[in-house]
Amino acid sequence: MYLVTVDDSKCTGCGECCEACPAQILALEGELCEVTGDPSECLGCESCVTLCPAEAITVQEL
Ligand code: SF4
Ligand code: SF4
Repeated sequence: MYLVTVDDSKCTGCGECCEACPAQILALEGELCEVTGDPSECLGCESCVTLCPAEAITVQEL
């Protein structure tokens, strides 16, 4: 299990992470990225972390 957290104060709503997530659990809600899918489906690949230009995402193994 992984805990995916988006820092709303940093997210610019670019959508990069949403497009890249292989588990498709990230989506834009308004102008901010949110974990909209089932968090337990996160693969821990950290593509979102790597791609995010705002360094807004953290992925923590639980
Ligand atoms: S770590 Fe990978 S699977 Fe998990 S939210 Fe980020 S891109 Fe999606
Ligand atoms: S890649 Fe970063 S800045 Fe862009 S939508 Fe995702 S969390 Fe927000």
